[in-house]
Amino acid sequence: MNDNSQQLLNYIGGMPRTAQTKNGFAPKVCESCGLPFEWRKKWAREWENVKYCSEKCRRTKGPHQDG
Ligand SMILES: [Zn+2]
Repeated sequence: MNDNSQQLLNYIGGMPRTAQTKNGFAPKVCESCGLPFEWRKKWAREWENVKYCSEKCRRTKGPHQDG
């Protein structure tokens, strides 16, 4: 085994940095787009229930795409 897989994961992320723990909350992975996203203050009350990185992903909720 080698480290190629880990580098590939970082590359697929497409973001300049990896998601970090914020304010003591570990990052989550969006169930729609599969990208990691960080805790945000606006989610402070509902972080346990947050499953999507954005409103767009929350509406998409899956592989279905409407151009
Ligand atoms: Zn997303």
